[in-house]
Amino acid sequence: MTNLQPPLMGAMMDQPLLISSIIRFAARHYGGSEIVSRRVEGDMHRYTVRDCEARARRLANVLRAQQVAPGERVGTLAWNGYRHMELYYAVSGSGAVLHTINPRLHPDQIAYIVNHAEDQLLFFDLTFLPLVEAIAPRCPTVKAFVLMSDRAHMPAASNSANLLCYEDLIDAASTDYAWPEFDEHAAASLCYTSGTTGNPKGALYSHRSTVLHAYASAMPNALNVGAADVVLPVVPMFHVNAWGLPYSVLLAGAKLVLPGAALDGKSLYELFEAEGVTFSAGVPTVWLGLVNYVLQNGLAFSTFRRTVIGGAACPPALMDTLIDRLGVKVIHAWGMTEMSPLGTTGGLLAKHRDLPVESQRAILRKQGHAIFGVDMKIVDDGGCELPWDGRTFGHLLVRGPWIVSRYFGGNSGDEGGDVLQDGWFPTGDVATIDADGFMQITDRSKDVIKSGGEWIGSIDIENIAMAHPAVLQAACIGVHHPKWDERPVLVVVRRPGASLTREEMLRFFDGRIAKFWMPDDVVFVDALPTGATGKIQKNRLREQFRDYRLPG
Ligand code: ADP
Repeated sequence: MTNLQPPLMGAMMDQPLLISSIIRFAARHYGGSEIVSRRVEGDMHRYTVRDCEARARRLANVLRAQQVAPGERVGTLAWNGYRHMELYYAVSGSGAVLHTINPRLHPDQIAYIVNHAEDQLLFFDLTFLPLVEAIAPRCPTVKAFVLMSDRAHMPAASNSANLLCYEDLIDAASTDYAWPEFDEHAAASLCYTSGTTGNPKGALYSHRSTVLHAYASAMPNALNVGAADVVLPVVPMFHVNAWGLPYSVLLAGAKLVLPGAALDGKSLYELFEAEGVTFSAGVPTVWLGLVNYVLQNGLAFSTFRRTVIGGAACPPALMDTLIDRLGVKVIHAWGMTEMSPLGTTGGLLAKHRDLPVESQRAILRKQGHAIFGVDMKIVDDGGCELPWDGRTFGHLLVRGPWIVSRYFGGNSGDEGGDVLQDGWFPTGDVATIDADGFMQITDRSKDVIKSGGEWIGSIDIENIAMAHPAVLQAACIGVHHPKWDERPVLVVVRRPGASLTREEMLRFFDGRIAKFWMPDDVVFVDALPTGATGKIQKNRLREQFRDYRLPG
């Protein structure tokens, strides 16, 4: 066969992969599945997927009445709740682009991204009224601000013009709406990276990328979401679309529980128990709070069996506590905003079944295996591929249908230049990959500590420190050293009431790491700086320690 000959085409229906297809499917085939939300107004709200789809159709009519054109952006400043779900489906399903905004960003950054995205409408939860009033005068593209509540909760006086009431708009709209069909490559949603350095950059997801990501992420090797699950995403819907759960949970037919703004250990625990949650997802800092609450109060989970932890390295001590003391299986996951976000998930292979627990745990602690749809490799500074031996570390590159090819140009049209290297996206992470394909992150490229020409992975050092019973949080950074260029310094937050000295901390590392990885100093602080997604901000920490002098 010559390659000039046209291929024989398959004889299958050509149906675009659209976000509306998920909610249409869910409403028709799992219509009775519940969506339960803790409202920011304080009470609980429950309805079914069928109700959600009907209200999403009304909302699509609202968007039409507000003259939101296909491709135009609609912003949200909202917690995990049913109205946010309606926006997820109504905005993207009608052909507009859902722009979820992280409310924990600085107001200047929020105004920047609203303007960059040229949001036409901005929907927000009651909690964010003061924030919206502060930024409204600086957001000229926004034609109306919609408070996601009912008439009773509308402010008596507000200095922002064009303030609309969500429930009034829904009540006035008809459910008579047919989800349109269009190109599956059309933009569906927009999410900005947290911009720890420079301005935030927009990842513009398509319908196709979102549906494929939802499909793949629900699979057994990934998050394993099924119709018998009750899923509570602690990860916010403003953080990379809650890792795709608003889509994958509906696609799988599961029950969804949305915690609103109450993310403390007690509120979460009570919701887990009341709703029979089986599966959850969140960054490590959230689990620290929940696990501490459960252990301190001598409680146990009655239905909660699996959780995915990602967004930052899961401390091994946290994983051990969840598995051994609370009976919760931990799926360690890695990804990033630019990857929709899921790239790898942890888990064991059949051949690992009879390994001793400690060896199995070492595998589960890695960031895991690529899920179908994601390809990855590690390369040296010159771009040459490095071996998969579990020891050699290099820059981690990825490619796949839900990974960005460029950034969103926004109002300036500037897409940030060529982001790909020979068709691969550089993640900015440094990792090893072993012969079985398990990837382990050693560091962010910019956090790697370079000592005497060798790299020291800060994550390993932090993981060991966090295993000490007196340590609540730990971060390891490189500080300037006249001879070695950089040396590691460990910054520690002690557990309340616990005592721990510098010497005791250092002794804890004896025999656990190579001599030259041993931190040169331990500094105790009351808190570590965290960013808008709850991760420790090492760049701010390095800034704090800029003039720090190593002992001796
Ligand atoms: P931002 O980069 O703006 O903080 P992301 O949520 O996209 O926002 O963060 C992605 C980065 O978070 C990854 O590139 C990686 O450095 C880190 N990360 C995510 N998951 C893990 C994990 N399981 N282990 C270690 N690092 C992780």
